[in-house]
Amino acid sequence: PVRARFAPSPTGFLHLGSLRTALYNYLLAKSTNGTFILRLEDTDQNRLIDGAEENIYQTLKWLNIKMDESPINNGPHSPYRQSERSSIYSHYANHLLEKGLAYRCFCSKHRLDGLRDSARLLKPPTTVSYDRHCINNISIEESNKRMENGESFTIRFKSPNQYPTFIDLLHGEINLQPQINSIDKRFEDPVLMKSDGLPTYHFANVIDDHLMEITHVIRGEEWVASTPKHIALYNAFGWEIPKFIHIPLLTTVAGKKLSKRSGDIDIMSLKNKGYLPEALINFSVLFGWNPKRDLGEKVSEIYSLDELCQNWSINGLTKGNAKVDWKKLDYFNKHYLTEKLKTFNSTFFQNAVEESYQNIKNTLNLNNLQKDKVSNVLKMIYPSLVKLNDFNTEMYHYFFISPTYNKDEILSKLKIDNQTLTNIVDKLVQNSKSLSHEQFNETINIILLESPDLKKRIIFQVLRYALSGPQSGINLPIILELLGPEEVQSRLQNFQT
Ligand code: GLU
Repeated sequence: PVRARFAPSPTGFLHLGSLRTALYNYLLAKSTNGTFILRLEDTDQNRLIDGAEENIYQTLKWLNIKMDESPINNGPHSPYRQSERSSIYSHYANHLLEKGLAYRCFCSKHRLDGLRDSARLLKPPTTVSYDRHCINNISIEESNKRMENGESFTIRFKSPNQYPTFIDLLHGEINLQPQINSIDKRFEDPVLMKSDGLPTYHFANVIDDHLMEITHVIRGEEWVASTPKHIALYNAFGWEIPKFIHIPLLTTVAGKKLSKRSGDIDIMSLKNKGYLPEALINFSVLFGWNPKRDLGEKVSEIYSLDELCQNWSINGLTKGNAKVDWKKLDYFNKHYLTEKLKTFNSTFFQNAVEESYQNIKNTLNLNNLQKDKVSNVLKMIYPSLVKLNDFNTEMYHYFFISPTYNKDEILSKLKIDNQTLTNIVDKLVQNSKSLSHEQFNETINIILLESPDLKKRIIFQVLRYALSGPQSGINLPIILELLGPEEVQSRLQNFQT
């Protein structure tokens, strides 16, 4: 059975890229009746960010991505926080030391910096800089003694001169060789254990994927260069290698790296902006996965989490096409929001009313705002909302307070003079009692019979302007109904003066 993991480092809040990685691993597990594991890779103590771990759990919970095994609900391979597994890594590092596949390195930072600088001057320049000083010049006995004396050291992997090729389920065979510089004798020999006694990412990642019986590793393409190193480690231990799938990096529509400037903010901030979990799932599942192959084509591109859990598969993964078009997030949000709001007796609708009521009341400073009014307006206008908090904007505020307007603006827009405007408003005021939803058309016709020189379209627009100011979008009869005859009359009278 599949065991897939999401292995975030708590070095920041969860963004779209990590959400997509988590989601694909989750969907692979769920679609195969497998297990979804969250392992926290927190061994780089310098890069930890306060609140990041909590943010990861909160975000996944909000999105309805449930972890079967994790630091908070544990499981058969506890602990799931790498910082709590140091003794495990030391054990395996010692095993490699004993087999002569790893060695202690006592080189000072000063010496290593010097090697790095000189490597940059080699032809061709290389970032692989270690000269194997500590394996060539220090005997096992001396190494043991220096350790016993309390000297600081790291443990390095004696990496092979050749890396095996490997199969990536998405990309096929991949052949990436270590950059050794044989003339100047520089080697990759990655550090496995740091001088603080904690493992590096590469080492802990391999040990844990093995011990946690991970069958599939779906991760971003940025890790593909590390995979040969990982495979060399699996081979050193004689362990079975999990299946690797490297998914394309997210880019902007223009193909640039996704960044804060191109709108990439953490998922909880998107929640606070009013995006729904269903919309974010639907949005991110499409970055590098082609639904046609697993679920059949849908013009709407609407895929629910349930549906994905049933039908998602790695067959649908694609090598490219991970362009993030934020407009699409709005499209999905509008879809899910209106779907949910259209059931007026649902808890979702009731909560939406409560939230909007509080927000509108506070924004407009309306102490006697009626909740029913908010509810009635929402029932009418919800199909035009992208996010619920769009409701508490100028666009809809005129339902609760008189709009602000500028009469010169309407004169120039409708190309009428002041006298005509006054005539129209006078007529509307005289007839305002019968300007209800039902009698609306009749009333306008009566006005037209009395003043044949007026135009119907102009009357409509003046009325609309008096009631809603420059905001448009909602049908006049609906506005009339929601405001009610008294409010309509008073707004028209105000407009008259
Ligand atoms: N801790 C790594 C990260 O933050 C995990 C990479 C992997 O999945 O192997 O992305």
